[in-house]
Amino acid sequence: MDVKAALLSLAAMFMTAPAAWTPAGTLHHHQNPRELLSSIHLLRPLSGSGGRPAGGVTCASWQFGVETHNVREWTTVPRSCESYVGNYMLGDRYRQDSAVVAAEAAAYAEGLQLGNDGKDAWVFDIDETSLSILPYYARHGFGVEPYNATSSNEWVDLGIAPALPESLKLYRKLLSLGFKVVFLTGRPEERRNITVVNLKRAGFKKWEKLLLRGEGMDGTAVAFKSSERAKLVETGFRIVGNIGDQWSDILGSPEGARTFKLPDPMYYIS
Ligand SMILES: [Mg+2]
Repeated sequence: MDVKAALLSLAAMFMTAPAAWTPAGTLHHHQNPRELLSSIHLLRPLSGSGGRPAGGVTCASWQFGVETHNVREWTTVPRSCESYVGNYMLGDRYRQDSAVVAAEAAAYAEGLQLGNDGKDAWVFDIDETSLSILPYYARHGFGVEPYNATSSNEWVDLGIAPALPESLKLYRKLLSLGFKVVFLTGRPEERRNITVVNLKRAGFKKWEKLLLRGEGMDGTAVAFKSSERAKLVETGFRIVGNIGDQWSDILGSPEGARTFKLPDPMYYIS
């Protein structure tokens, strides 16, 4: 997929109104055969988008390993999987997989009995959970290129990351049910202002807390995030749900009563 086609596809994806999205994992009568073929193509394990062999492990198997956390500590997407990951991220499948996660989370939340003290909290990660860095990654090989802090921070500092639409829907649902939303991100404290601007611009208008990585909070994301969740619990919050795209968002006690893992085959944070 060339960059132009990828960006056109991306633009179309984010211009789709949330209400118009297809529910998780279902095919519809109105879906035309061409769309159906492209859906099947994404499931074909032995080749990339150009029909080339993926080489070694197939891209679909690699992705399965990543999402199940059997494959760990990887630094870049296998070069042979660039087209596969690009197709996944920009095609229907990423949205459908995210929709399943959000729908399960919403159903779980709806079944909960809230306390009357306003202390039922739901933790949201930010990048690739609330906001999407995909427009940047679409220009940088979908994770094939080694992480470049300078260029990715420059993009983040534009404050134009779109919402992940299914997560925004879940966020609104949780607020309407009375849960308190806590954003917990590995973004550094110095990016608080642009993060606030971007969250609001993308539709995340209110929250109980926005927790960023302060100075001296080095170490792994697991250590940082679990210690921040521990502080929440110490101050009386019950973490009823916790959603993120990285395993490091949802590992480490206290994880939350239930955790939800969104797809992310583009990068790994330990
Ligand atoms: Mg994230």
